[in-house]
Amino acid sequence: MVDVTILGGGPVGCFLAVILSDMGVPNVVIDRDVVPYQLPRAIVMDDEIQRAFHDHGLGEWLQQNTEPLQRGDFVGPTNEVVIGADIPPLGLQGVPPVITHYQPDLDTMLRTEAERRGSQVMWGRTAVNMVDNGSSVTTTLDNGDSVQSRWYVGCDGASSWTRKHIGLTLEDLRFDQEWLVVDAELHEGAVVDLPRGVRQYCHKERPFTFVQGVRRFRRWEFQIQEHEDSQQLNTEEGLWGLLRGMISPNTARLVRSAVYRFHAVVAPNMQKGNVFLAGDSAHQTPPFAGQGLNSGMRDALNLAWKLSFVKRGIASSNILDTYSTEREPHVRSTIAHAVDMGRLIDQLGGRVSHGVDIESGYGGTRPSPHIEAGIVVGDDPRVGHQFWYHPQVSAAVRMNGASLAVVTQENIEIPNALQRIGAQVVVAPESVQDAYAVIVRPDRYVAAVANDAHDLNSVATQLFTAYAL
Ligand SMILES: Cc1cc2nc3c(=O)[nH]c(=O)nc-3n(C[C@H](O)[C@H](O)[C@H](O)COP(=O)(O)OP(=O)(O)OC[C@H]3O[C@@H](n4cnc5c(N)ncnc54)[C@H](O)[C@@H]3O)c2cc1C
Repeated sequence: MVDVTILGGGPVGCFLAVILSDMGVPNVVIDRDVVPYQLPRAIVMDDEIQRAFHDHGLGEWLQQNTEPLQRGDFVGPTNEVVIGADIPPLGLQGVPPVITHYQPDLDTMLRTEAERRGSQVMWGRTAVNMVDNGSSVTTTLDNGDSVQSRWYVGCDGASSWTRKHIGLTLEDLRFDQEWLVVDAELHEGAVVDLPRGVRQYCHKERPFTFVQGVRRFRRWEFQIQEHEDSQQLNTEEGLWGLLRGMISPNTARLVRSAVYRFHAVVAPNMQKGNVFLAGDSAHQTPPFAGQGLNSGMRDALNLAWKLSFVKRGIASSNILDTYSTEREPHVRSTIAHAVDMGRLIDQLGGRVSHGVDIESGYGGTRPSPHIEAGIVVGDDPRVGHQFWYHPQVSAAVRMNGASLAVVTQENIEIPNALQRIGAQVVVAPESVQDAYAVIVRPDRYVAAVANDAHDLNSVATQLFTAYAL
């Protein structure tokens, strides 16, 4: 019996497989497609996921295959910047805040890495049945083979077979617009006048998005109007018409175009028994914040260390209930922000008035979500947020899921509750953090902050009474 069956060898499934293998959790990945999807979808990756890539030995791939995004803007009807900002080359995680990539390259690399790190892979296979009998899950494949595992994760995309099979539902967060997505590649040496970074054109007649992709790839997304026929727009002639004044066949080739319904949905419950949902199977967002895949990868990071702790016998299985508790509100909030960005585009173009705060735009002050309930304790403002990067600490704390880290100013004896689960003490100078101790989870979120030894005892007890064996 293997520990984890992953249905879906897309980016989320394969990333989960990579992390689990790094943590010593044997897994099998099943996908109906023999080769990964070859057309670009996700185009940006945030710093949290980049940092996780570095932690899991994928930093070199990032360096060779991605480029920092330099700027984000919302521009009004006459192309004046309404809200926007330059993006610094390095952010708090010690990597660029946002980079661009080409998803087919990413998906191919993750499949290769999953195999290289020991995942058992079954490409070209579909699941036809799955039964969770309480102590294990049996998955039956279309060729009659079956796989038995302790847990099962459905990473099988937006129309998830898993989700429907176990009867989990999606809640509609009420955004529904039809957009035409066009990817183009500039000819080598082409001279074009396009903006830097990502730009939302909040135009009254036709809002559209431009994204400067990696290398010579460029992305446009055009909002389709109610009276329009999307099929007619999505023709060679229609597409070049939309792109007029920006690129032409003389300067670029069309890579692909597709009509998407940009919508917002989330599964209020991402777990049923030993079965979990991750990635698009659990949530889908309009792409304005570029957070669909990032959120799916965050699911993988959240779930993997908890599964590894239960496997190693250092946490009880009720720690797994915190997966949905932590991830659902976080992703709901992320999607709400993306939806507001979509509404802001219409609002700034003078099409409708939604009363969306302009601070939801790029560079605005709207805060990012954090973990509010789950394996987090106390009201220190750092709790539930990502532990920020510091080269010295980061080198010592390889967040590979092996343990919790207790980041302290001097070598201290940590409470029994933390010793028992193999927590690692990392001494960092006062300039790095000003608390007595910061407890950092394997997914780099701050679980608790203690101001003295007594405090550390107390938070450790609170954290682990509920979850330790
Ligand atoms: C236009 C557009 C722009 C986007 N931009 C961004 C962005 O900039 N940043 C970002 O983070 N995200 C973005 N996204 C979202 C991102 O592409 C998705 O969130 C991501 O691809 C989801 O990954 P996944 O692994 O969950 O699902 P998928 O990539 O859909 O993979 C699911 C896998 O499951 C397999 N599968 C399905 N059913 C079965 C079955 N029954 N048996 C076996 N295998 C099965 C499929 O073959 C597939 O390989 C964008 C999406 C679109 C459409």
